[in-house]
Amino acid sequence: MRIDLHTHSSSSDGTDSPAEVVRAAADAGLQVVALTDHDTTAGWAEAADALPAGVSLVRGMEMSCEGRGADGLPVAVHLLAYLFDPADAAFARERERLRAERTTRLRGMAEKMAADGLPIDPDALMAAVGPAAGRPHLARALVDAGVVGSVDEAFADLLRTRGRYYVHKADTPLRDAVRMVAAAGGVSVLAHPRAVARGRLMDIGQIGELVADGLGGVEVAHHHHAPEDERLLRGIAADLDLIVTGSSDYHGHNKSVVLGEFVTAPEQYERLVAAASGVEVVTG
Ligand code: AMP
Ligand code: FE
Ligand code: FE
Ligand code: ZN
Repeated sequence: MRIDLHTHSSSSDGTDSPAEVVRAAADAGLQVVALTDHDTTAGWAEAADALPAGVSLVRGMEMSCEGRGADGLPVAVHLLAYLFDPADAAFARERERLRAERTTRLRGMAEKMAADGLPIDPDALMAAVGPAAGRPHLARALVDAGVVGSVDEAFADLLRTRGRYYVHKADTPLRDAVRMVAAAGGVSVLAHPRAVARGRLMDIGQIGELVADGLGGVEVAHHHHAPEDERLLRGIAADLDLIVTGSSDYHGHNKSVVLGEFVTAPEQYERLVAAASGVEVVTG
């Protein structure tokens, strides 16, 4: 059984529609795929409706959180949330707040670029983004305008965290996020906790207190993790009895990774499903 628990569609910063993601999952030989757009469940219904026979859909999300680094300073952390009840009111309100932060912040970055003479039209950009605006949308616009040659090149400089055009957004405090997912019947999994390519790292020592808050697992196999990162995280997961996942973090054409490039072991997937009580896995 091939299981990929982390993908993005055009409901956030992926380039495939939710229906295209689940069809591509079937083509890639997956039996289980999770749709985990940033801060939104907007793609769930379309993905479920388009689900090919033989593929199961785990409805999920990747939540934008603020943890802390070993130096005590804030660090952006992503938290995967699976099979939670989308109607839980407190959690739904927080997702809405996060999406509003995304919209204001991306427009702010685009306006800074336009003011600096870069060929970016903030209104056109914002009209073209879906439910959850993200820097990859601006990266695409910069590629299309010929300012940079690739999305990666845009992130290396113009879109860089704390770079010239960076605008901060207020993410959910990580411990609150873990508690909210648990309260909505979901299972939370720390996304790519050692992905140093994205910037400063969270303090791994925080994981123990997160388990007390209800954290369910850790994403271990990920294209931004080196073998020593995987070893470190597997050790922590074993010590704390956490679920271990592996996933592609597929973003369509916005990243070079392919569906199923990293996968989750069936017994770990079974643990995750057994721990959730918000919504069911959808079978195609
Ligand atoms: P945002 O959510 O707007 O802060 O943007 C972060 C998103 O940009 C991540 O979820 C990735 O999809 C993407 N991203 C981050 N770093 C890079 C990079 N170096 N190259 C391409 N995409 C990136
Ligand atoms: Fe993303
Ligand atoms: Fe992420
Ligand atoms: Zn992701």
